[in-house]
Amino acid sequence: MSAIGTDDTPIIEISGLSKRYGPISAVDSVDLTIRRGEFFALLGPSGCGKTTLLRMLAGLELPTEGTIRIDGQDMSMVPANRRPVNMVFQSYAVFPHMSVRDNVAYGLRVDGVPKSDAWEQAEEALNLVKLGGYGPRRPDQLSGGQRQRVALARALVKRPKVLLLDEPLSALDAKLREQMRLELVNLQESVGITFVVVTHDQGEALSMADRIAVMDHGRVQQTAPPAELYEFPQTKFVADFIGSVNLIEGRVQAGGNGQVRLLAPGVPVPVEIEQENGLPEGSTGWLALRPEKVDISNDPPADAARNTVMGTVEEITYLGEVSIFHVRLDDEHPLIKVAIANVDRVTRRPFTWGDRVHLSWTPTCGIVLSQ
Ligand code: ATP
Repeated sequence: MSAIGTDDTPIIEISGLSKRYGPISAVDSVDLTIRRGEFFALLGPSGCGKTTLLRMLAGLELPTEGTIRIDGQDMSMVPANRRPVNMVFQSYAVFPHMSVRDNVAYGLRVDGVPKSDAWEQAEEALNLVKLGGYGPRRPDQLSGGQRQRVALARALVKRPKVLLLDEPLSALDAKLREQMRLELVNLQESVGITFVVVTHDQGEALSMADRIAVMDHGRVQQTAPPAELYEFPQTKFVADFIGSVNLIEGRVQAGGNGQVRLLAPGVPVPVEIEQENGLPEGSTGWLALRPEKVDISNDPPADAARNTVMGTVEEITYLGEVSIFHVRLDDEHPLIKVAIANVDRVTRRPFTWGDRVHLSWTPTCGIVLSQ
């Protein structure tokens, strides 16, 4: 996350924005404000409309309805090449026959900047992305990560107010992707330009962005900083898309006074959750409970205030840093996932298949959702 250099003034204001292709609503009534200097992510599954939204910001698609203002100016009549934005494409789109320096200087040259000035600015941009001295090389003499940086330098050289990045790391292998996440954050901090990144990778969005808009079926479901999305999702979709979650359906028995009580089929005790926004009594609610927040033990927990149930270990998945225990509750319905960090090298598991175990969680650990 960057957060440095962010102020509260908007740089992008999106209002009632829709894009329809025949019967398909690719983007559906989106309202969104992106702050100056922010590292902002548009996150969602394939086909949710995030690329279409980015392309409308760039001026590469025209909205069916709604408005976009960038730095206070309505973009309706502003063509792509006159917008104060630049875009980095998934494929990088660097010119293979040109040197790195010419690739980076290309946009400046098209604007009529003399060659020596353009080269000087290109060298500065290459320094920014740690490719100083690589100017004379051709793109095929670079690694994938270096080519990605050339694409970034080329987009930054014209000092746009906003940089739009479409799945910028998707062509890189997993290790390099992780390293480039950090580099992108550092780069954004050093140039102070607003970054809007499209990604379907929640890890990427959580680790890089100041705020994330989660999209589904063309709509923004929730916009919040990463930790708030994870701890306080507002919908089942967001809870499920960000990280792993147990979602247990039930009926709200009592829903006010900072505490929600939920009766869920197959869970022998009422689930008590502390939360500010109450829910109507008798309505359907879903308990969203993160696997790492559930305690698992052979003996009953000492703290009687906890939500406690018994179950049987049905499956164990080893994931390296954690193991996931799938525990079937007595009344056959719910299967609860519990994550345990593998702090020691796993030679012997604390629980095994068929073990009877106690599961418990405190009232502040989950959240009850209404949709
Ligand atoms: P991905 O991660 O797979 O790129 P996305 O979230 O970026 O997905 P979009 O590319 O914005 O999704 O597409 C949103 C919806 O609009 C999809 O259903 C897609 O098929 C449709 N769509 C996008 N572009 C067009 C087009 N030019 N003509 C018709 N339908 C389109």
